[in-house]
Amino acid sequence: MNARPEQITIPKELLPADGRFCCGPSKVRHEQIDAIVVARDTLLGTSHRKPPVKNLVGAVRSKLDNLFQLPDGWEIVLGNGGSTVFWDIATFGLVRGRSQHAVFGEFSSKFAHACAAAPHLGDPSVMESDVGTHPTLVAEEGIDVYALTHNETSTGVAMDLRRPTGTSAGSSLVVVDATSAAGGLTWSPSEVDVYYFAPQKCFASDGGLWLAACSPAAVDRINEIGSSPRWRPASLDLKVALDNSTKNQTYNTPAVATLVMLNEQLDWMLDSGGLAWSSGRSAESAATLYGWADSREWATPFVSNPAERSNVVGTIDLNDAIDANAVCAALRANGVLDTDAYRKLGRNQLRVGMFPAVEPSDVEALTRSVDHVVSALAD
Ligand SMILES: *Cc1c(COP(=O)(O)O)cnc(C)c1O
Repeated sequence: MNARPEQITIPKELLPADGRFCCGPSKVRHEQIDAIVVARDTLLGTSHRKPPVKNLVGAVRSKLDNLFQLPDGWEIVLGNGGSTVFWDIATFGLVRGRSQHAVFGEFSSKFAHACAAAPHLGDPSVMESDVGTHPTLVAEEGIDVYALTHNETSTGVAMDLRRPTGTSAGSSLVVVDATSAAGGLTWSPSEVDVYYFAPQKCFASDGGLWLAACSPAAVDRINEIGSSPRWRPASLDLKVALDNSTKNQTYNTPAVATLVMLNEQLDWMLDSGGLAWSSGRSAESAATLYGWADSREWATPFVSNPAERSNVVGTIDLNDAIDANAVCAALRANGVLDTDAYRKLGRNQLRVGMFPAVEPSDVEALTRSVDHVVSALAD
């Protein structure tokens, strides 16, 4: 008789010190919660229009600028609603007429759908590839926004960010969904105009905010559309967000505790060595995870091209004899959480968040724990 997953006990010495491997919300470091406790009398419960909270917003903006080593003229813009809301904001305030999208999973498809549904925009051009790979964008007449996704969280595919061949900086914008990549993967500002994300992945905070690093060309586009007659709901108006952000404010009340957590994570990254260091931690975790999967008969990295494998979200297929749901159930019973495949992908797969906050040694411990579970399930 096979063991019931929930009855498997993983020996303590094999288990990770922290069992949180979710791909978002992701593991929050204890120091981030301590920062909230420190803020309890000074920041929490005070006006977001007064210096303490405005200075916090200003600190987050300048630390992101520093982390990404942004050239002069870039602006960090922020507002409420997370990355999903930013897609709608972009349809109103970034796309002039028509966009082209690299679609290779759930998240990248959603921005394309938002643009297709916007009555004031032309039909988007969609470049699609099979899940587990990514497509390449090509210059196309009449396209003013090229939409990329740095890391497709649903499949564990990452892409190098480059302006599509045949396009030049200034005429069209490269707009990147970096929700699960920002802080964990490297990129070059010369190849990008808008790099947007929410803070609940590599920045290990709560969700609900969106932040966007905007190049001078993107700022020009925001101002151009912002002074055009196009109707824009005020809460989705990128020009309104830009004007507030440059004053270290948001249009409406932000989640102050989330900003405190984000600020603490930025301090941790910057004090430790910046993006080279934080992305290096994820790279170390990824090398461990994919190396382990390659060395097991019954496990295979889902993304076949090693160059497209993500360092922040690892997807590992298991062979049919092993039920990934049973493996996840056994892990969960032992406090190792959220290793399940993306629900809509429907594969017999483990998916592992390897954001900078996750200790590389805990990813190694996870692989030992999976080995134990797989052999116990076969007993
Ligand atoms: C998580 C995620 C989103 C959605 O972010 P929300 O803040 O929940 O809207 C969008 N894109 C990618 C690539 C993501 O990983």
